[in-house]
Amino acid sequence: MKNITEVKDLCTGCGTCAGLCPQNIIKMEIDQKKGIYVPIIKGECNECMTCIKACPGIGVDFKELNMMIFGRQPKDLLIGNYKDCYIGYSSNEKLRYNSSSGGMVTQILLYLLKEGLIDGALVTRMNPKKPPEPEPFIARTPKEIKESKGSKYCPVPANTCLKEILETPGKYAIVGLPCHIHGIRKAEKINKKLRKRIKYHLGIVCNHTPTFKATEFLLEKLNIKKEEIKNISYRGEGWPGNLKIETKSGTILLLPEYWGSGFGQLFIPKRCNFCVDHMAELSDMSFADPWLSEFKNEKKGKTLIITRKNSNILKEMENKGVCRIEPIKPEKVILSQIYNLYVKKKLHMKSLYHSNFPRIDFIDKIIGFFEPSRLKIPWTLKRRYISLYSLIASLKARRDFLGK
Ligand SMILES: Cc1cc2nc3c(=O)[nH]c(=O)nc-3n(C[C@H](O)[C@H](O)[C@H](O)COP(=O)(O)OP(=O)(O)OC[C@H]3O[C@@H](n4cnc5c(N)ncnc54)[C@H](O)[C@@H]3O)c2cc1C
Repeated sequence: MKNITEVKDLCTGCGTCAGLCPQNIIKMEIDQKKGIYVPIIKGECNECMTCIKACPGIGVDFKELNMMIFGRQPKDLLIGNYKDCYIGYSSNEKLRYNSSSGGMVTQILLYLLKEGLIDGALVTRMNPKKPPEPEPFIARTPKEIKESKGSKYCPVPANTCLKEILETPGKYAIVGLPCHIHGIRKAEKINKKLRKRIKYHLGIVCNHTPTFKATEFLLEKLNIKKEEIKNISYRGEGWPGNLKIETKSGTILLLPEYWGSGFGQLFIPKRCNFCVDHMAELSDMSFADPWLSEFKNEKKGKTLIITRKNSNILKEMENKGVCRIEPIKPEKVILSQIYNLYVKKKLHMKSLYHSNFPRIDFIDKIIGFFEPSRLKIPWTLKRRYISLYSLIASLKARRDFLGK
């Protein structure tokens, strides 16, 4: 491979190549047909190979990176290297209510900034000029950090911001999906400056990123033109929250039923079907929704947290009253993500990086064959199909992973 455009369908669209390119000639642009970001080379490439070396799409050596980050291989193959698991929420009621789950990611960033532990954080907000598009940026004030709260269920080339981290000395935190973290870790391996400057890696647990086609499909169903949108937020207003669309004419649409519809499952980028990391295993801390029966009446929101490094921060924050945390058993963390873990750790695990991982048996092969993203099923039937399929896969996963 000579340059990044040859990565093709393996590209995660993370933007690491653009953020690192010494010639600054790689730009991330939306491929309108696929609804994902792809790298475009704008200029004469001198084939230095920096982009290829840091590209997480081509592959991630988990063994090597686990050694580099934690100095050991994980004992738990579903969660990865970890110290503790917590359930927590921000003490700031407004933030908690308007973030994705319990507002812990945003609260941690606010704390790190206030305590002078970071000068900025790589985060993502919706682009105010082109609302259905995201805008990754380096937030340097509490206001900017708060603007980034909430999950964006669309592609995000977050790692393009590595450029600013490389150009501006300081201490940084980064927030990213597993693929963003993979790119950053690979970049840190070859770039000492990044290794020194990025102090905190906050990982967002991720099943997959819906392509832009998911939002477009929704807008089409609602008969709203892209140009009419003033703002779109995918989460917020309690837990699990609403998808909220504000139009320029002042109409506000709240779509709570969006959560049950599984519509994002129809628009999965090809590359997500090869991903084996649901839990953001190479982050310092991972954050998720607590999809457990005991939280079914939760209205304000709580964040599920896996600490891997820098776990003292959480205790300090609790002592200062900015958040509440309580321990949760790792089995519960696994149970809360059981279906997605099954998909990533069994169905997507084409080449095992752990020889002692549960073997893929005949039933897994059958379940894998019927994976919703592989089959062409009409939208109306697909929703029911996904529910039935995830139930069967979850039962198999409970037996394999938890012995239940
Ligand atoms: C695409 C996607 C898929 C997810 N899949 C799952 C899942 O399968 N199971 C599960 O339990 N949880 C999943 N989550 C995580 C969940 O939605 C919350 O992000 C998590 O619970 C943290 O909540 P919080 O209230 O602490 O975060 P908040 O305080 O609201 O902060 C969210 C942070 O995430 C960053 N962010 C948002 N969207 C993106 C993005 N697309 N790329 C990079 N950074 C982003 C923001 O910049 C912000 O810093 C997913 C999130 C995303 C974005």
